Amino acid sequence: ESSEEGSVIPLIEGSLRKGCPKPIKTWAQCGVSTKELNILKKLGFEKPTPIQVQAIPAIMSGRDLIGIAKTGSGKTLAFLLPMFRHILDQPPLEETDGPISIIMTPTRELCMQIGKDIKKFTKSLGLHAVCVYGGTGISEQIAELKRGAEIIVCTPGRMIDMLAANGGKVTNLRRVTYIVLDEADRMFDMGFEPQVMRIIDNVRPDRQTVMFSATFPRQMEALARRILHKPIEVQVGGRSV
Ligand code: ADP
Ligand code: MG
Repeated sequence: ESSEEGSVIPLIEGSLRKGCPKPIKTWAQCGVSTKELNILKKLGFEKPTPIQVQAIPAIMSGRDLIGIAKTGSGKTLAFLLPMFRHILDQPPLEETDGPISIIMTPTRELCMQIGKDIKKFTKSLGLHAVCVYGGTGISEQIAELKRGAEIIVCTPGRMIDMLAANGGKVTNLRRVTYIVLDEADRMFDMGFEPQVMRIIDNVRPDRQTVMFSATFPRQMEALARRILHKPIEVQVGGRSV
């Protein structure tokens, strides 16, 4: 049961499929704001891709989600557009608040790419994002974070360093309510599960958590079961392992 249109199939035994919102066909139908619509238009993105069609309304409904679709299918916007709405629905950040959303990625390159994609929207939406990745000095990232950011895009190892930096005074997870695990399969392959868990275990349990991946190997099911709450599962194309 799969097609390029996308299908909702249970990858994890016992996970819920009830209440999965209907796919949307146009940007306007999926709760995207006028400001966002203008940016999408400027980018030349006329309509949502198959993974976006299914994942955006599911995430917008507040549910946790596993989204599986091949590289290049548009997974980034599938978690960014609901994330922007989630953040804009929250009270604004106070002086000492940490981020509302954390996006975890396996590599510095992916982190920077997502940062670039986010920055097409943040100025117009009045939001701030900071990339936190290793292999480079931490002090500039600390300085950026101190200016306040609703969004952190990070690699898990450097994020843990950041949480400990300056006696834990740089940032904190107290306001985090939306977490993305992007390229979850690669994160798992690269052995980042302990760091990912260490971060997630310190975030309030009623958060919304979404996981995106090109593949969903069986070994990832245990991780998914631990961090996701009754996820909706969306898959475009076959389940590659
Ligand atoms: P993935 O994470 O699935 O590998 P990306 O999110 O990086 O894919 O998207 C791949 C490319 O498709 C990017 O260049 C992105 O800007 C573009 N893209 C995303 N959504 C759309 C859309 N709705 N219409 C046209 N292009 C899109
Ligand atoms: Mg991607």
